[in-house]
Amino acid sequence: MAEPFPYNPFPIYDLHSHTRASDGMLTPDELVNRAVARRVGVLAITDHDTVAGIAPARQAIEKDGLPLQLVAGVEISTLWENHEIHIVGLGVDEHHPDLTAFLHEQHQRRMARAELIAERLEKAHIPGALEGALALADGGAITRGHFARFLVAQGKAENMAQVFKNYLARGKTGYAPPQWCTIKQAIDAVHHSGGRSVLAHPGRYGLSAKWLKRLVAHFSEEGGDAMEVAQCQQPPHERSQLARYAQDYHLAASQGSDFHQACPWIELGKNLWLPGGVEAVWLRFPHIIQVAAPQA
Ligand code: AMP
Ligand code: MN
Ligand code: MN
Ligand code: MN
Repeated sequence: MAEPFPYNPFPIYDLHSHTRASDGMLTPDELVNRAVARRVGVLAITDHDTVAGIAPARQAIEKDGLPLQLVAGVEISTLWENHEIHIVGLGVDEHHPDLTAFLHEQHQRRMARAELIAERLEKAHIPGALEGALALADGGAITRGHFARFLVAQGKAENMAQVFKNYLARGKTGYAPPQWCTIKQAIDAVHHSGGRSVLAHPGRYGLSAKWLKRLVAHFSEEGGDAMEVAQCQQPPHERSQLARYAQDYHLAASQGSDFHQACPWIELGKNLWLPGGVEAVWLRFPHIIQVAAPQA
């Protein structure tokens, strides 16, 4: 074990990030080292429907004695009113059998959807998408992000934004409706494994103010604990609007970059701060930061 690092009373919190265990581009080892270089003191790894990145990240932190506290997290895909809503779990016991069983089901839903996406692309004369996306996923959870990278590599679009717009967004050639669990099932799975549930990036679902309020109300009624208020990149006023919703629905506030890969506008720890009047999720639920003892 490395020597304990000096206590930092004001660390930067980044409670949403991805590794190669899902559609992030960095290994867990690379991600935690990048977090430290960006002065992040508390990092949650929240891969899509998998906790496979947590153990290697913890090992890397211990091996190098990095001054970083890890929050074991996961980002769960759910379906609500025909919208794909993401629920982040923070401070989960990644070995909990209920969570393992739940994530196994999500994995099967991901695979079934990936097969449907590939079938649709094949009909549109783009063969080999399942094999291509699985190769890019490299054993990690398969996502539309992998299909997007495959299609860009095939020259079907110039960049990720274009490929989503033209192929993978709802109603487009390669869109297959998913069979995700409900918001309540995601919240319960997180709670059963000792974690707290966070409504991820509420501003990114394309909802009107009226529907966004309905979503936040539903999440809160179903037992949700917190919502993301701050991201690196947000439209003006979104942060203060989300902070008001958090207060109105008695949710704690979270913040996270949703980092997937190095890019000019999204970076670990960048521009993450909470407006006044909200309660930070790490203050309301401090246990999410306690690192579970590694399993033998
Ligand atoms: P999935 O969970 O399989 O539906 O994949 C969702 C992932 O695709 C998100 O987490 C993002 O990483 C990525 N994604 C979704 N929309 C876009 C977009 N417009 N541009 C780039 N990546 C996107
Ligand atoms: Mn993603
Ligand atoms: Mn998400
Ligand atoms: Mn994410």
